[in-house]
Amino acid sequence: MTALPHTTSEYQALDAAHHIHAFLDQKALNEKGALVIAKGQGLDLWDTDGRRYLDGMSGLWCTALGYGRADLNAAATRQLEELPYYNLFFHTTHPRVIELSELLFSLLPEHYSHAIYTNSGSEANEALIRTVRRYWQVLGKPQKKIMIGRWNGYHGSTLGSTALGGMGFMHEMGGMLPDFAHIGEPYWYAHGGDLSPEAFALQAADELERKILELGAENVAAFVAEPFQGAGGMIFPPEGYWARIQSICRKYDVLLCADEVIGGFGRTGEWFAHQHFGFQPDTLTIAKGLTSGYIPMGGLVLSKRMAEVLVEQGGLFAHGLTYSGHPVAAAVAIANLKALRDERIIERVKQDSGPYLQKALREVFADHPLVGEIQGAGLVAALQFAEDKASRKRFANEDEIAWRCRCIGFDNGLIIRSTLGRMIMAPALVASHAELDELVDKTRQAVDQTAREIG
Ligand code: PLP
Repeated sequence: MTALPHTTSEYQALDAAHHIHAFLDQKALNEKGALVIAKGQGLDLWDTDGRRYLDGMSGLWCTALGYGRADLNAAATRQLEELPYYNLFFHTTHPRVIELSELLFSLLPEHYSHAIYTNSGSEANEALIRTVRRYWQVLGKPQKKIMIGRWNGYHGSTLGSTALGGMGFMHEMGGMLPDFAHIGEPYWYAHGGDLSPEAFALQAADELERKILELGAENVAAFVAEPFQGAGGMIFPPEGYWARIQSICRKYDVLLCADEVIGGFGRTGEWFAHQHFGFQPDTLTIAKGLTSGYIPMGGLVLSKRMAEVLVEQGGLFAHGLTYSGHPVAAAVAIANLKALRDERIIERVKQDSGPYLQKALREVFADHPLVGEIQGAGLVAALQFAEDKASRKRFANEDEIAWRCRCIGFDNGLIIRSTLGRMIMAPALVASHAELDELVDKTRQAVDQTAREIG
């Protein structure tokens, strides 16, 4: 590591003096001091004191290729030298963004043709809201503008994306807008009662139909959801859910929009998570794995049908970001997508590392007294804590218990995440068997210690 100008405690003091961290009580954090991560290589991270951590979360679900890839660095450096900035405003464009789209659409199903690039997932969902409204306007249905999301869905932190998401505590902090509505999450473990997962899947999907009828189909523009719910607990809908949702959307002429910010680019072992579940959205929101998080980039992908309406009938679309399709981000995205494709990384997640992790988790945790449910596919998984496994009773303070488990993990050099009473993990897609073994072992140690501490 290059010599640092500050000690850890100096960094912590400066951090406390100047930052408001995301989703944490800043005052409480200031008393303890933030963890200052200084270096990364592969799945390993080091803090400013030289302690190593295994990153079981790919940063924030984004470093698909792990840290320290020389090819991504070289692509950025080359582009910085050649053309560090240009844009797609008015009548200009540049080669890198065009080459990126050529590659991206060669990897996507044929159904899609156009992209609007952004710098983040939140902005991509803002672009989604505006584009969907514009689409219906162009078709002469301007009143069709209500977007339906799901409770506990997460689509970002900007105002529109917060309203679209279903995090009640974010809505309460000024994050709600008119013309957004929500239905329940397809979370069988919590809400399935006596129903089989398959029967619950249909019940959960039918809530969308009831909501559309309540709001009036003529007013509903789109249903937006993550194929599997990420920040809201890594929840995989039971079999049958997406097929029913798709048929409801088609029946009422409501656009089906998949937020692929976490699920896209190989997480489940398919290029896109909607392919894992077998449905066909009208739009895809992408970010994170598009550049492996090395540089900010997101985007909104549109179906041919939508793009044709917007291009052929829409005229000018008054929407644009200074950095949309930024050449350096595009160059990194190209290098990243080529690595995912040419090194057959996603095939490996599907055939080898994904099944390896899923099997190991089930072997280790199926009989664990604290774990009620194990969910996941490919290199993404969640453990649900249970007070009583037989009745699927959850702890009243499950958030606190999961947070404790996460902290134990960090103390033991493992980065995992707790969310809404669940432990979640999403290691880089390049994880080796040895790294996955370490992830499972250290998670087991953290869960065991949590069980001992809560008695
Ligand atoms: N959509 C989903 C599903 C996400 O998980 C996230 C971030 O975690 C976002 C959107 C927002 O992306 P960003 O943080 O890049 O704005």
